[in-house]
Amino acid sequence: MNPAAAHTDAALHPASTMATNAAGMARYDDAMAGVLPGYFDIVADHGEGIWLFDVEGNRYLDLTAGIAVATTGHCHPRVVAAVEAQARRLLHTSVVTRNAPAVALAERIGARTPFLDQPQVFFCNSGAEAVEGGLKLARRVTGRPGIVAFEGAFHGRTLGATSVTTAKQHYREGYGPLVPEVLIAPYGNVPDALEALDALLDARTDAEDRSTIACMLVEPVLGEGGYVVPPVAWLEGLRQRCDRLGALLIFDEVQCGVGRTGRFFAAERFGVRPDVVLFAKGIASGLPLGGLVASRALLEQWPVGAHGSTFGGNPVSCAAGLATIEVIDEEHLCDRAERLGEIGIGRLRAAGAADPRLVREVRGIGLMIGIELASGDDAARVQQRCFAEGVLVLNCGPHGEVLRLCPALTITDAEWDHGLRVLTAALAD
Ligand code: PLP
Repeated sequence: MNPAAAHTDAALHPASTMATNAAGMARYDDAMAGVLPGYFDIVADHGEGIWLFDVEGNRYLDLTAGIAVATTGHCHPRVVAAVEAQARRLLHTSVVTRNAPAVALAERIGARTPFLDQPQVFFCNSGAEAVEGGLKLARRVTGRPGIVAFEGAFHGRTLGATSVTTAKQHYREGYGPLVPEVLIAPYGNVPDALEALDALLDARTDAEDRSTIACMLVEPVLGEGGYVVPPVAWLEGLRQRCDRLGALLIFDEVQCGVGRTGRFFAAERFGVRPDVVLFAKGIASGLPLGGLVASRALLEQWPVGAHGSTFGGNPVSCAAGLATIEVIDEEHLCDRAERLGEIGIGRLRAAGAADPRLVREVRGIGLMIGIELASGDDAARVQQRCFAEGVLVLNCGPHGEVLRLCPALTITDAEWDHGLRVLTAALAD
């Protein structure tokens, strides 16, 4: 091959330089840091809707959506067209100038938060950055240090986000000292969670009996921690306590937001009003984008220059975000998530009832479904069986014991049926 052609292949279609999964994996293992975990030892070549294709041409029904990211499926034509058009027009401005896709997307996201007064948006690149933004906002505007987070939560890999993450001890080990003044309270599925929270809060008043708590940061549906849907009364209890303390209630909707629960934001689904909503993952169907949305009155208290981002609100990512929201509306994806979720939970519960020693619980909301098995080994076994049948399923939970389904919201009835058949057969095997 002449060197110029090799160069073009590497830039335009790198997967074409890997003839087999094994060859790609060998290069991966040499070139990439081993710290990044991987689920399946295949190299993806392309994707189309719910399907992923590896470099050998095998196809897989993807019930992972790249960890709850590909909301509109892989390479939805509307998203691809928006990205292509924007890539030709302008790739990047940073804060040097304003960019139109970011403005338009902020308006669209604001329109999805009827529970916020005059919403405004801050854009960054990822979920962890959205968390950092939320925590910094809370400390800056309240002038208090205290952060309440919850057991089992996953908020990301930066040092601040790691400090509020307890989904697995491994995520925190060896990184101390972590950010101070973080209190960890039980999540809402634990009996007497609010009483335990109150005890923690009581201990955090200063000499003049003023609270030192800036915010409570909560996933309205626990993601990595095991796909747990808390009682609404618990979320309402957090709201009441934040009101009493003058603290901000921050919903981390990085995983559960953007239609997955059957509403654009889970806050709406639960009818509980947060002060700040964090989003990332599914907002741009796979392009890197995150952010937070809050009322104008709150964001006006964050001084100019007190926070920022070079890439946040990148025009191409925002164009993908605009197309994502259009597809969600036009294809009624929130309704679809709710309906297919109910079908899935019903079928999986029926399948699980046949073997209650293996299947401890089936739970979820919308297209965010967790199947808690007896152990992490059981989950790994079922996952491998599904993989052998060409279906990709993730796991989560403290010991990896929860199989989780978070497919693209565009999955068709027939594709969902196929995935559920393979999964229920694997559970019964
Ligand atoms: N918050 C939640 C609820 C998440 O599930 C995740 C990622 O899984 C994050 C934050 C971190 O997002 P990112 O990996 O984009 O930094």
